[in-house]
Amino acid sequence: MQDHIVKAVTAAGTLRAAAALTTSVVQEARDRHDLYPVPTAALGRLLTGGLLLAADFKENERINLRIDGDGPLGHMLVDAGYGEARGYVSNPEAHLPLSSQGKLDVGGAVGKGILYVVKDMGLKEPWQSSVDLISGEIAEDLTYYLTHSEQIPSAMALGVLVNPGAQVEIAGGLLVQVLPGCPEEHLAKAEAKVARISSVTQLLKEMQPKALVEWLLEGLEPVTFAPIPVRYSCKCSRDGMVRALISLGRNDLEELAGDPDGFEIVCRFCNEKYTFRQEEIKDIIANL
Ligand SMILES: [Zn+2]
Repeated sequence: MQDHIVKAVTAAGTLRAAAALTTSVVQEARDRHDLYPVPTAALGRLLTGGLLLAADFKENERINLRIDGDGPLGHMLVDAGYGEARGYVSNPEAHLPLSSQGKLDVGGAVGKGILYVVKDMGLKEPWQSSVDLISGEIAEDLTYYLTHSEQIPSAMALGVLVNPGAQVEIAGGLLVQVLPGCPEEHLAKAEAKVARISSVTQLLKEMQPKALVEWLLEGLEPVTFAPIPVRYSCKCSRDGMVRALISLGRNDLEELAGDPDGFEIVCRFCNEKYTFRQEEIKDIIANL
């Protein structure tokens, strides 16, 4: 089954839900950055959270989620748009023993710190916000952000199951949000469902995203929307790297042009390498 998100809303417009299957997205992040298991789980959760938050966006709207923790993972950044996301962690080889529940210790790897959110909705200025991390487990932190900064009562669950062979067995997440005017009885029904979730990856093994959102809003006449395909995607390009080089200015470029071996730029988001021969840098200077 290909990665996708399914959204749903109750017939009365009181609650909405979204469920994401992101196994291939997280596997690609793992492979591109050669991530150890804990960074795979951490970045995989943040990528999935970003995709869920961007599932309502228009084509050129973006959200950046940056987590700055004091744990061994360092910082982590995800850039997401409608149906696509990319990201990295500063320490792809962070390693911690399993938590007391036998799980990958994402909270321990992230540590204490801050979640920064930047939303670019095509307006003059991007919208910025930050909240203290609650647990570093990502889903709780994003839930806290949604409830406090965006003022939308929300519940989010995110999960990544990694095999010892660095294979992502399954990854995904879900989001339930309360809409204005939601009556108490609808809220109670959804809360009862959310309270029954102990593992979102286990739920996704049993149910596809469409079945999962229908289960979350069961008894409230859920209306589901067409699936949104999601993928790992980076917009970097050789032309973009040339523009970045030009922005360095003549002095720095002349220094780079002094190296007969040329120069290499690596994209942080996807690890794609762009090499420039000495003559190419000289050409860029000649065209300034
Ligand atoms: Zn890239």
